[in-house]
Amino acid sequence: MPEALNLADDQRPARRAAALTLLDALEREAPFPGAARIGITGAPGAGKSTLLDALVRALRPRDETVAIVAVDPSSQRSGGALLGDRVRVRSGAGDPGVFVRSMAARDRLGGLSDATRAGVEILAAVFDRVFVETVGVGQSESDVAALADTLVYVLSPGSGDLLQFMKAGVLELPDVFVVNKADLGATAERTVAELGSGLSLGEHEVDWTPPVLSASARDGTGVEELVKALDAHRAHLLENGALRARRQRGRETHVTEALERRYGSFGIDALGGRAALAARVRESRSGSAFALLASLGREIEEKLACRPT
Ligand code: GDP
Repeated sequence: MPEALNLADDQRPARRAAALTLLDALEREAPFPGAARIGITGAPGAGKSTLLDALVRALRPRDETVAIVAVDPSSQRSGGALLGDRVRVRSGAGDPGVFVRSMAARDRLGGLSDATRAGVEILAAVFDRVFVETVGVGQSESDVAALADTLVYVLSPGSGDLLQFMKAGVLELPDVFVVNKADLGATAERTVAELGSGLSLGEHEVDWTPPVLSASARDGTGVEELVKALDAHRAHLLENGALRARRQRGRETHVTEALERRYGSFGIDALGGRAALAARVRESRSGSAFALLASLGREIEEKLACRPT
């Protein structure tokens, strides 16, 4: 497993080719729906890591295996394999049913790195649930929304997270909200109420109203309810066929945004514009998103007869 992840994280051309072959095979063979991919996002200090620990403790007795990709906001891709996994002690140390890996946040052009997406694909082939933990508001939410089936937003009570979050205008992305630190009492209750009224103003995916849960990662309150909400969202997506559509949309977003970052709008225009590109991504269901990205990139370079900056 670590070898496969290092391979996905390696930028050297020969290793890139091997990684593409691996990812292609994984995507082709992957059973549907496969692992649940769950994004956990929120401001630093909201309690995401503590909550993930609590989730691991809740899921392992159910015999579910869990992988966590912790996207490290401070590190940029350096071109080589990342060696350092997060040193923080987590529950599940020594348990083969739990795997934690930290990965660089950004590729050199500012997107959630391909390696993160590749890491999720690899882990999804092995574990029952893959959590992707990311920090921040704005771009990182839409990036992680493109690779998660379910997006969870964690807030700390009375911290201004809510205001910042609403300003970022990404209120429609999360599927589940968790106001953590319920043990703080009244401020937590107030934040739950404020969020509830803020949400009633927003637009959401049809027929799913994101629940606003109250939890304390510290004492375990509300963690079972969070697991139930995650399961309910997955069941909802499976019932109405929305999971396939969501994964397809995520693939489109990933490929389009990665090409746009690398080649700018000229690159997208060289492929006939956004709509034409989206249609091509939709049509190419067979290979992996990574192989597709590589071949579309080559096509743009040929058309523009230039290399990315
Ligand atoms: P992250 O940056 O979002 O991953 O947040 P952490 O999980 O590192 O938690 C940030 C701080 O909040 C730490 O000091 C935690 O001990 C504390 N914390 C996390 N969950 C809770 C909780 O449920 N209640 C209280 N009172 N503190 C918490």
